[in-house]
Amino acid sequence: MMPDIPLPHPAALRLRLDRAALAANWAALDALSGAARTGAAIKADCYGLGVAAVVPVLAAAGCRDWFVAHWQEAAEAVRFVPAEQVSVLHGPINDAEAAYARVLGVRPVLNSLAQVRRWLAAGGGPCDLMVDTGINRLGLPLTDVGAPEVGQLELVTCMSHLASADEDCAQNAVQLARFRDVAGSVAAQRYSLCNSAGIALGSEYHFDLTRPGLALYGGVPRGELAGLITQVAHPEAAVIQVRALSAGDSVGYNATFTAPAAMRVGVISVGYADGYLRCWSGRGHVLWQGQRLPVLGRVSMDMTIVDLSAAENCGEGDWLGLEYALPEASATSGLSQYELLTLMGRRYSRNI
Ligand SMILES: *Cc1c(COP(=O)(O)O)cnc(C)c1O
Repeated sequence: MMPDIPLPHPAALRLRLDRAALAANWAALDALSGAARTGAAIKADCYGLGVAAVVPVLAAAGCRDWFVAHWQEAAEAVRFVPAEQVSVLHGPINDAEAAYARVLGVRPVLNSLAQVRRWLAAGGGPCDLMVDTGINRLGLPLTDVGAPEVGQLELVTCMSHLASADEDCAQNAVQLARFRDVAGSVAAQRYSLCNSAGIALGSEYHFDLTRPGLALYGGVPRGELAGLITQVAHPEAAVIQVRALSAGDSVGYNATFTAPAAMRVGVISVGYADGYLRCWSGRGHVLWQGQRLPVLGRVSMDMTIVDLSAAENCGEGDWLGLEYALPEASATSGLSQYELLTLMGRRYSRNI
């Protein structure tokens, strides 16, 4: 018999999910997508926020089309949504993956003629096709679109992916024109081109289905989305020690901050192992009861030191919010909005 081990104590680090904001972001993107349906990219554990917390909220909002990258992510997704709503972007790179797709009942996104043949040889069935219109990453080359095997597929979604939708540049129109040609020559139930940023490029980009990820989770990849999208992920860390510094005391590794006068500081339970990288050293802020408190000195692996001078009543065990609105946090840290979300790591209590 195993001895009874008490459940792990909740972490002094938590990721508060604003479910109302998440649902509202999906609804805003759905409205902006016009007549097109709006799906959700839920790869990388919903960009780090947690499938178990996010997917039920999006499903309740009306989402019925889900995109994961890996096969094991598909297995997680089907715990929450019907398998036939799930597409696996990475495609079947061997026969075992093709067989797995059929067993699980999810749709593979086929990315090459080899994958098309593999899927047909495995017995086929409903599937999606990614066509590369210029990102030169995953997808069937345009030169292979006319291959007879493509015509044998039971194609649900024919899609392509924009490389530079977050910029105003000629590449967007080039990819749009190429995808229009593809849509004219490949028979599918529906066509899909847009990620979050693409949705803001206008109705001619929308086709039948859009696939936002970042903006669902509070990212703002284009200015047009600024007023429509709200922060969803709110990382919070507890104070684990308070200390009084005298003038001349330095804090943290390499003593990069020295107190100019006596001051109160707090050590909070978040560090670079939690994705709060060293780029926040001396730059980040935390929020407490309306006060904005600066990060002092170096961020370390499990801890960060903050100035509590303006937060006299803040003490051990109190929760501080990291300032983490994605567009601003990206400008301050130099990290992309995507990295800010997906970096956060495993130690946060999620689904709170
Ligand atoms: C990740 C991904 C998306 C979502 O992109 P965002 O920029 O996060 O909105 C859509 N389509 C494909 C193929 C993707 O890989």
